[in-house]
Amino acid sequence: MRKMQNFQASQRTLAMKNKRCIVTGGCGFIGSALVRHLVKDLACEVLVIDNLTYAGVPESLIEAGFDASNLPPRGKLSIPCKGPALFIADICDTEAMALAFKEFRPDTIFHLAAESHVDRSIDAPADFVRTNVMGTASLLQVAHEWWRENPSFVFQHISTDEVYGSLGKEGLFTENTPYAPHSPYSASKAASDHLVRAWHDTYGLPVRITNCSNNYGPYHFPEKLIPLVILNCLEGKTIPVYGSGANVRDWLYVDDHVRALCLVNEKGRDGETYNVGGRNERTNLEVVKTVCAILDELKPREDSSRYESLITYVEDRPGHDMRYAIDPTKLMTELGWKAQENFTTGIRKTVEWYLSNEWWWRPIRDKRYGGERLGRR
Ligand code: NAD
Repeated sequence: MRKMQNFQASQRTLAMKNKRCIVTGGCGFIGSALVRHLVKDLACEVLVIDNLTYAGVPESLIEAGFDASNLPPRGKLSIPCKGPALFIADICDTEAMALAFKEFRPDTIFHLAAESHVDRSIDAPADFVRTNVMGTASLLQVAHEWWRENPSFVFQHISTDEVYGSLGKEGLFTENTPYAPHSPYSASKAASDHLVRAWHDTYGLPVRITNCSNNYGPYHFPEKLIPLVILNCLEGKTIPVYGSGANVRDWLYVDDHVRALCLVNEKGRDGETYNVGGRNERTNLEVVKTVCAILDELKPREDSSRYESLITYVEDRPGHDMRYAIDPTKLMTELGWKAQENFTTGIRKTVEWYLSNEWWWRPIRDKRYGGERLGRR
């Protein structure tokens, strides 16, 4: 049986186009970008599974044809649909997940649902263990059952470079870098990666894992550095910079991540990990100053002062990793991926998007998260 499944998996010819895809966390930042791409560019049938936590924003799916003014009741699954369908459910609810698989009959799942903010993981680590670890295990159980009847099925797990820990001034994370997570967030993601690998190694479930660097772009929840800076600038509030702002991150425009995910799904090898990163390292202070300079140009302040004058250095994040940097060679050479944006082009697009899309961020900023400091020890 196992041999036959492996053979069928290796013969997999179904291209990404027209696939039936479950996207968990599809109302989040990266998940919604993926759904927009799958629906608009690849004509896929998409079922979004999302619990609509504070970070879930169904309005991010409007561009993909979703009617965000008419949400289904929690726990109600309606298929078929026009545009992406939304199943408002918790990935930890194994029965609900089994129902979603049975009714939707997916070719693949992109698993992005997670608690994703490091600062919040310092305040409430148990939520991270529950969703990121238990939730992934719940999906793996259901996916395993589904795959036994549907051998061409692929489970794709979306993870972070933070599982590798922190770098010094030199060096890059490769797929062989040992795991050394420091925050409750990265530790929970590391655990979920191990579970996904275990289901492959133990049961033969066809899985792919991607570990990506920091994403940025449109529809990014304004607790994260780049949208927080943009919105604080627009509202004339101080811009908090942790410590001295010297921590380095490797920034990737979200649509480049999405293209990598589809490529890995289509052409990646079972059981393999692919690192995704744009070779765009910047210190946090450089990022903040770049955003300020673009806003100086696009939306000068009324009193002609520069946005940079709003920068305020605040107490550092506890256990703040110094530097992350990805080596994406495997993804580039094996699968032919190449980022289309660099930081200069991507950050300008992002700032322009926030300037033009107050309808999206204003309700979030007013009702869900106004920019207060999170994650003190
Ligand atoms: P996000 O916080 O914007 O979105 C997460 C989504 O998951 C939200 O819509 C939320 O409602 C949903 N969700 C949370 N708990 C759930 C549960 N129990 N059941 C169902 N849905 C639930 O996150 P993001 O930035 O889009 O990240 C998506 C994935 O990519 C995460 O797994 C994250 O670890 C990974 N990742 C993120 C980055 C980044 O820079 N943002 C980088 C690499 C990897």
